[in-house]
Amino acid sequence: MHVQIAIVGAGFGGLGTAIRLKQRGIEHFIVLERAAALGGTWRDNAYPGCACDVPSHLYSYSFALNPGWSRTFSPQQEIWDYLEACADRFGIRPHLRFNAEVHGASWDEATRRWHLDSSLGPITADVLVSAAGALSEPATPKLAGLETFQGTTFHSARWDHEHDLAGRNVAVIGTGASAIQFVPEIQPDVARLTLFQRTAPWVMPRRARAMGDRERRAYRRIPGLQRFLRLGIYWSRELVALAFLKPRYMRYAQSLARKHLERSVPDPDLRAKLMPDYTLGCKRVLLSNTYYPALQQDNVDVVTEPIREIRPHGVVTADGVEHPADTIIFGTGFRVTDTPIAERIRGRDSRTLAEVWQGSPKAYRGTTVTGFPNLFMLLGPNTGLGHTSVVFMIECQIAYILDALRAMRRRGVTAVEPKPAAQEGFVSALDRRMSTTVWATGCKSWYLDATGRNSTLWPGFTWRYRQRMRRFDLSAYDLI
Ligand SMILES: Cc1cc2nc3c(=O)[nH]c(=O)nc-3n(C[C@H](O)[C@H](O)[C@H](O)COP(=O)(O)OP(=O)(O)OC[C@H]3O[C@@H](n4cnc5c(N)ncnc54)[C@H](O)[C@@H]3O)c2cc1C
Repeated sequence: MHVQIAIVGAGFGGLGTAIRLKQRGIEHFIVLERAAALGGTWRDNAYPGCACDVPSHLYSYSFALNPGWSRTFSPQQEIWDYLEACADRFGIRPHLRFNAEVHGASWDEATRRWHLDSSLGPITADVLVSAAGALSEPATPKLAGLETFQGTTFHSARWDHEHDLAGRNVAVIGTGASAIQFVPEIQPDVARLTLFQRTAPWVMPRRARAMGDRERRAYRRIPGLQRFLRLGIYWSRELVALAFLKPRYMRYAQSLARKHLERSVPDPDLRAKLMPDYTLGCKRVLLSNTYYPALQQDNVDVVTEPIREIRPHGVVTADGVEHPADTIIFGTGFRVTDTPIAERIRGRDSRTLAEVWQGSPKAYRGTTVTGFPNLFMLLGPNTGLGHTSVVFMIECQIAYILDALRAMRRRGVTAVEPKPAAQEGFVSALDRRMSTTVWATGCKSWYLDATGRNSTLWPGFTWRYRQRMRRFDLSAYDLI
């Protein structure tokens, strides 16, 4: 099978690209999705309490606002339904291929095409769009003795809904964005919840509320109202970005978070355990009003000793104490900087992205990579965010891809590849900007790669990224 464009992944990125291509009249593309449904993050993270932490008016496509959100921060099922509805509304179904995993993709210099090895068989494509997701591969720590555990284990992104937690002795490992959402939900049901915390996260109050019928009707009836609110949220988030870029402005936010902790947790011992020891923002800032109250319930223990090993019926910490457990839930995040798709894409000289990157992903404008002609990555290196919706970044990248296709057609070019100097210049300017941000204040976070470089986040305002991505800059590319 040959297609003009092969898109890998049917989450916000892959689906958004498909919609925009179709709106431009480009029909000769397919979306290859390894799972049996679309939705990506919002299909996989079905844990109790899962919701977005960027307001829904902003955490959605700019071209498909949803007046029907039930809450200011929508729950997982609603976001998944929204993506399904977008696939119908924009006629994307005929392009979707499910149970279609891409095992490998190699650029063939002779045919100037991508050759894909997929579960649907071989496919060739002129252009490859990787929308495989930055947070789609669960990371589970290699704990000594884990294979001897006699109970049930699962990752929050692969929640085992068959396993009833009522009356269980549950060990939760990790205190990141997912754990703080599901811990308060499961705490009332379980017999005992032992929370293993390596680093205390900063937690801010969550200003969430339901959106009633009247409000939803208003969004439907008053043209522009929801877009106006979205714009307000967007610019207020951009203002917040200032504190990430100039850490001295973080003091105010940090004092709010400290007050939230002090108000919520009267017990000085527990409060000391939960007090972070790094500048707010260096790791992802979490939002919750229910996390601290849950940790103070009688059936909860917060353990800060490092884990030494897992035994058949419990978790042993460095101090030799065995904490009994019949269920272990990993809230340990994702493989972000060593994403498996990088091991599957081979460029001009037959090396994979992972081999070229050597543990530190780099790309031109976070989207194209020297040595990999006609490859476009959504949410590629340094396009993640700590302060606002990544759907905004995805849409900037999609606009860039569409403009690239237009420019190639106009110039009669078969393939484009960023010049080495353009990519190096972009990356070194980005690294310089990163060096003065809050992410460079010394904490160890999942934003950092194997070399210690932050290859995950965009160190700037998103409107600046958008400015750069409006036009495809042909002069930065070798035309093949
Ligand atoms: C719990 C959670 C909450 C989040 N909340 C927010 C938020 O509030 N705001 C925000 O901005 N961001 C949030 N994020 C980040 C979120 O991942 C992005 O916002 C967005 O959903 C990413 O979309 P995507 O299409 O790039 O990737 P995904 O949604 O991860 O989709 C990638 C798709 O690619 C498929 N795939 C991967 N490899 C292959 C392969 N080899 N072959 C075929 N298919 C493949 C996967 O199955 C998946 O369906 C959250 C993430 C998580 C995990």
